[in-house]
Amino acid sequence: MRKYDYLIVGAGLFGAVFANRAKERGKKVLVVDKRPNIAGNIYTAQTEGINVHVYGAHIFHTNNKRVWDFVNEFAEFNRYTNSPVANYKGELYSLPFNMYTFNKLWGVVTPSEAAEKIEKQRKAAGITDPKNLEEQAISLVGTDVYEKLIKGYTQKQWGRPCSELPAFIIKRLPVRMTFDNNYFNALYQGIPVGGYTKMVEKMLDGIDVMLECDYLENKAELDALADNIVYTGAIDAYFGYKLGALEYRSVRFETEVLDVPNYQGNAVVNYTDAETPYTRIIEHKFFEFGTQPKTVISREYSSEWKKGDEPYYPVNDEKNAAIYAKYRRLADGEDNVIFGGRLGEYKYYDMDKVIESALALCEKQLG
Ligand code: UDP
Repeated sequence: MRKYDYLIVGAGLFGAVFANRAKERGKKVLVVDKRPNIAGNIYTAQTEGINVHVYGAHIFHTNNKRVWDFVNEFAEFNRYTNSPVANYKGELYSLPFNMYTFNKLWGVVTPSEAAEKIEKQRKAAGITDPKNLEEQAISLVGTDVYEKLIKGYTQKQWGRPCSELPAFIIKRLPVRMTFDNNYFNALYQGIPVGGYTKMVEKMLDGIDVMLECDYLENKAELDALADNIVYTGAIDAYFGYKLGALEYRSVRFETEVLDVPNYQGNAVVNYTDAETPYTRIIEHKFFEFGTQPKTVISREYSSEWKKGDEPYYPVNDEKNAAIYAKYRRLADGEDNVIFGGRLGEYKYYDMDKVIESALALCEKQLG
């Protein structure tokens, strides 16, 4: 008899949701994580009374009522709505692309004027069947928006020209012919009051957790503790990179405490030109309408991942998809190991999709 039914590798969102639901079904669960803290990349920590999103801004949004009800079991959500501002060489634009953006760009006032302008640019570009992000972006919003608000930002974020990136990345962003600058098309949105760490702590309440415990370095011992493993780390790392390393983008933050109450007047300002070395500045207090006397800002720099860095974004292009498919076949052949989450499935998941997939796995496994 092994001590645990499930060993869960990774105390991030996928691992915590699965652990919570498995425990609720009477399973014995152990969660291990190599970091000194739980919550993976949604970890928040307080500085100057402000919850800082240590691994980058996370704004919870979903259309799935079941997921929304689920997270509300563990936290109260505030009414934060993401409305980033784009700074292009000192010109400020409203995001996502909406009537405020089009008015500032072209002076157009009505939705039909804006649509006409976009249509004209789209026609001039002559794209019928968009094959990459550049073509997709131009055919969605025209060349002006592409040049000022997409091209530089995307190239900085992904380290590749837009013509070499998959079209689906840009489809994440809405284009609206209304004066609505809510970044997400989601019925439910907000930030957990008190930070994400508190929410994950509640999910893991009553569950054994071992931190600073590197699974891959202690695999044999840890495997011996449980009947099943749920692995949420990088799939290529699990197999010792033997089929080659998958590519990821990493991000690095330069965080500063400033002795002013308000630095940029918004939680998120994107720098969409190619020259500014960072992609965006996050002012953390505004996620929770903070009124503290000081403020904490993080400049976000995007970089190519190399071993030892934190992997953030899978690079879902054809080359990596082919490598992933091979790892997937190996993963399917592993007895009693399930791969899940952004890194385990090499997928650009939003938080709500991570939860959906962890809940679905739990149902499949445990009914
Ligand atoms: N994007 C852009 N300009 C912006 C913000 C986003 O061109 O000001 C593009 C960029 O290609 C990015 C994609 O939209 O990779 C998705 O952005 P999102 O904000 O959803 O990325 P995340 O918040 O997950 O980093």
